[in-house]
Amino acid sequence: MANEFGYIDENLKVIREKVGEASEKSGHKVAIMAVTKTVPAQAVNHAVKLGVRLLGENRVQEFLTKQSSYDNSAKVHMIGHLQTNKVKYIINSVDMIQSVDSLKLGQEINRLALANGKVMDILCEVNIGGEESKSGVAPEKLRELVVQLSQLKSIRIRGIMTVPPPVDSDIFLGRTEELYNKIKYAHISGVDMDILSMGMSNDYEKAIMYGSNLVRIGTALFGARNYQK
Ligand SMILES: *Cc1c(COP(=O)(O)O)cnc(C)c1O
Repeated sequence: MANEFGYIDENLKVIREKVGEASEKSGHKVAIMAVTKTVPAQAVNHAVKLGVRLLGENRVQEFLTKQSSYDNSAKVHMIGHLQTNKVKYIINSVDMIQSVDSLKLGQEINRLALANGKVMDILCEVNIGGEESKSGVAPEKLRELVVQLSQLKSIRIRGIMTVPPPVDSDIFLGRTEELYNKIKYAHISGVDMDILSMGMSNDYEKAIMYGSNLVRIGTALFGARNYQK
């Protein structure tokens, strides 16, 4: 029987080669996340069968409808903008929330994590290009947010996530790396950062050279989406 998802095998092979090369050049390990928005659960499961161990979800509603069909050998991270009133739907079904950009959201995650007897890993999302259309905390407000979030005992800050502007990407990738290192080596009490989540289909190799150790890949793995986020 022909494999309907053979294109995913091909795509993943290319991605793994490129990530492998960039990882070797930059001297650090890199995790590959499959970004699943608009992708049917069967295609997502095919990627998991090929060894992808990390799924990225953008939309709570879409995740809730696909979740029960997922092969559960992969971990799931929320990477899309998250409204405070939706945290309750995902608190027990994701392993990390990468899109924390306000104290209010952090407080709600902390409250629900505590109520469910867990500690939730989070990343702070930074709007590195200061773009109005994008969520994320402003770079100059990041440190203050990290300090505030570090007081909350049922969340654990693991690093930062960003979606840099498509133009002048070297500048923004470089700025994000700098910001990440600045916070990491400030040794803020209770903060132990080890994840820089940066790089998508069009810039993941470059992002790795700027220190990214988690690349989030949609289109290059699953093909073009029917509709754009
Ligand atoms: C859609 C999306 C991605 C993946 O984008 P591609 O260009 O399709 O690889 C990565 N991160 C976030 C936050 C996204 O919304």
